[in-house]
Amino acid sequence: MATWIDGIRIIKGELMEYTQLRNESYGVSLKIFRDLHSFIEKLEENVVYGITQNLETNQYIMVIPDEFNSKRSDLNGKCISCKQCNTSPAWCQSCDPWRTTQEWTSENEIIDNFIKELQFKATGYEKVIEWISFDRLTNLQKIREDNSEITFMATWTDGIRIIKGELMEYTQSRIESYGVNFKIFRGFQTCNLFIEKLENYMQLKENVVYGITQNPETNQYIVVIPDEFNSRRSYLNGKCNSCKQYNTSPAWCQSCDPWRTTQEWTSKNENIDNFIKELQFKATGYEKVIEWIPFNNLINLQEIEESELGFVLATWDKGIREIKGESVKYIQSRTMSSVDLIELNYSILEFLENDYRIHGITQNSETGQYMLVIDFCNYKRKFVNGICEYCKRYNTNPVWCQICDPPKVDQKLSGNKNLDNCIKEFQLKATAFENIIEWIPYNRLSNIKEINRGGFGIVYSSTWLDGKRTVEGDDSLGYVRHRKKPCEVALKTLSGSQINSEFLNEVS
Ligand SMILES: [Zn+2]
Ligand SMILES: [Zn+2]
Ligand SMILES: [Zn+2]
Repeated sequence: MATWIDGIRIIKGELMEYTQLRNESYGVSLKIFRDLHSFIEKLEENVVYGITQNLETNQYIMVIPDEFNSKRSDLNGKCISCKQCNTSPAWCQSCDPWRTTQEWTSENEIIDNFIKELQFKATGYEKVIEWISFDRLTNLQKIREDNSEITFMATWTDGIRIIKGELMEYTQSRIESYGVNFKIFRGFQTCNLFIEKLENYMQLKENVVYGITQNPETNQYIVVIPDEFNSRRSYLNGKCNSCKQYNTSPAWCQSCDPWRTTQEWTSKNENIDNFIKELQFKATGYEKVIEWIPFNNLINLQEIEESELGFVLATWDKGIREIKGESVKYIQSRTMSSVDLIELNYSILEFLENDYRIHGITQNSETGQYMLVIDFCNYKRKFVNGICEYCKRYNTNPVWCQICDPPKVDQKLSGNKNLDNCIKEFQLKATAFENIIEWIPYNRLSNIKEINRGGFGIVYSSTWLDGKRTVEGDDSLGYVRHRKKPCEVALKTLSGSQINSEFLNEVS
């Protein structure tokens, strides 16, 4: 490429008024021929502006049109080498591809040639694939590995190529210390096999490649590609300790953290390990990680009597995962907390789909039974409901914990075993303090007066001395349990045979 100071000949003007002129400082290509024969051959088939001679080498040179002339636009800025307008922003298709092939080597001719061939074909600054020295990659962190490849996260010190600036003033630049991924293809370690595998990889348009590097210790060739979670990173989430890039969610790096959670534990059962690891790889946040919980980390075990799900309440001494801190400064933390244990007869996936807070899986060391460690009512627990005095978690309803309170309702006995069982059954299902059904001794009712009589039985009015259960307060003040005593109630007679759960269904 060269600029011809006199420029090419053009004809200006219109019909009858044409004039001879020159387009000065015009971009042209130069071709040096090694022998006269091929020179003359080319002369016949090409447009040729002229012939010149290098005064130092005495070589004859053909001056021919610049092949990229039609792509040049002043909007792309000017090429610093040939001073012509660029063919794309900050990129001269004549000068830049050649320049990218200079001043580097992988020290392997086959790899050099492969990269240079790609560089000659590059049609823009950001599309150049380059040789990356391995020591330009830092903060390496394994993301995943399987039989065919191993993927890492890393910081590329030089960073990716970007074009800066605006129309006419574009410049070639880089985003330094940029997060990237790199892949090692297993079993494709010789340079020829690696190139073949990489060519296949690059056939898919979505597989962008930044460059190629080589681990100097293992001699493995490695392809450097975009960080797959880049679009989810935000400075608000804080920085990842491993890869030093911004996290993808508060205190959580989707590249580094899933792999880390799969390390340094085992349930001693491969199926359970694989099952948990698969879930861990899919976890999208710190608090969503499901982990293996050794049974001896669960203390204060208390069976919750007569509960349908076979609940055990326990305290997890290592603590549940909690993100603490504020925007930009979030940290991963743990808080010792009560947890519910359920026998693992239920499908864990069903729980997951329904957004239950699952902490992990444990195995009862006495019975061998696997158990799910869960906060069964997490979705109902709210700060405004107050804290449960038994499990110290937020209540599920105002002053009512759906796990702890139903079995603890103080039951007065009627003396009829069937009826007592029936009342107990309903108490265990009570979803709020006000909804509790209880046995009321007759002597706690006064002023009984008949008010109606019909086919349905007799209806009386009465005063209940203990009063009905209510919850008083509001979201800002908090709530307290209360008995509104005395209070007016209606009584309806029943024949003895009507005392069954059908009747209680009607009542509830
Ligand atoms: Zn140029
Ligand atoms: Zn990371
Ligand atoms: Zn509780």
